[in-house]
Amino acid sequence: MQSRDIYLKRRPVGMPVPEDFEAVVTTLPALAEGEVQVRNSWMAVDPAMRGRMNDAKSYIPPFALDAPMEGPAVGTVVASRDPGFAPGDIVSSRLGWREAFNAPASALRLRPDVGLPPQAWLGFAGVTGLTAYAGLLKVAALKPGDVVFVSGAAGGVGSIVCQIAKIKGHKVIAAAGGARKIAYLKDVLGVDAVIDYKAEENLTKALARAVKAIGATGIDVYFDNVGGEHLQAALALANPFARFAICGMISQYNVTEAPTVPRNLTLIMVKSIRMEGFIALNQMEMEPHFLADMIAWHKAGLLTATETVHEGIDHALDAFFGLFSGANLGRMLVKLG
Ligand code: NAP
Repeated sequence: MQSRDIYLKRRPVGMPVPEDFEAVVTTLPALAEGEVQVRNSWMAVDPAMRGRMNDAKSYIPPFALDAPMEGPAVGTVVASRDPGFAPGDIVSSRLGWREAFNAPASALRLRPDVGLPPQAWLGFAGVTGLTAYAGLLKVAALKPGDVVFVSGAAGGVGSIVCQIAKIKGHKVIAAAGGARKIAYLKDVLGVDAVIDYKAEENLTKALARAVKAIGATGIDVYFDNVGGEHLQAALALANPFARFAICGMISQYNVTEAPTVPRNLTLIMVKSIRMEGFIALNQMEMEPHFLADMIAWHKAGLLTATETVHEGIDHALDAFFGLFSGANLGRMLVKLG
């Protein structure tokens, strides 16, 4: 079997460009004992992949040059030389950016048939959903009455954070870029106040207006997907003892100069704010509760799985670049088969 794979050819400086990557056709060898052959049906692109393109120490090693990149994928077992997997099984892996692969069984996770479409394992039922769930409920320690502010609110993680907060009865202020996303947040997710950050000159003033519009004194929880000015605004409008779950800072991923905002970090002390960064892969002990809740909310019609889908491995880079221009509503996915 052949597979088209996307390789990292050189390390991007600033915003990646197509010349940083190469599509390579490979022929899969015969399966060794203990290996499984998988045809990917879906892969996802994550903003964090940008960090792995740098040769820098992080919580996960950098991508190797001249090798296929890695990322979340779900596929179907084609052939197996491991007793734990059989042809037709649906499996997830970290072996995205390729159409098919052979891998040791330990690199795969068997996904049960619980009535979800396969790509749900890359979205609300996968690490994206766990990030939202663990960040909001454990890291930010959401408690009754909290006013929640979410940045990057119309994306994969952000759209789930908004929904969990609404399911739990909270007032939610959501920030995203552009009229289409604002309409989605209001009309589909039912958040209480919205900020189109691309249409605002001063994000702190915009957040102050949103807080006032919902009759609140400030925000109690900030779920940060963006960093920079969004974080500065959240600090300015935080109530005493607010909790900030620092999930991501996409506004900083392609910068080539040191950031100048936030300029008000002193407020962490002044307001006794607890600010905590987290990585979802360190929150796996929450998975049984997380999956039970997500599947139940989805079945009850309380949780919408919003997806933006590109077709074919040839469009995987378009999907990835689109994360940084805001081209996606919900989870950014590539359909491979
Ligand atoms: P996403 O939100 O679906 O896609 C990225 C979104 O970021 C874009 O749609 C865009 O929306 C927004 N964006 C891009 N550049 C921006 C900028 N300069 N300023 C403000 N917004 C910008 O991606 P995701 O996979 O759900 O990830 C969201 C965040 O969570 C990222 O920061 C990611 O790194 C982080 N994350 C962390 C973990 C963890 O374990 N800690 C796990 C998964 C994801 P607009 O159109 O609204 O600008």
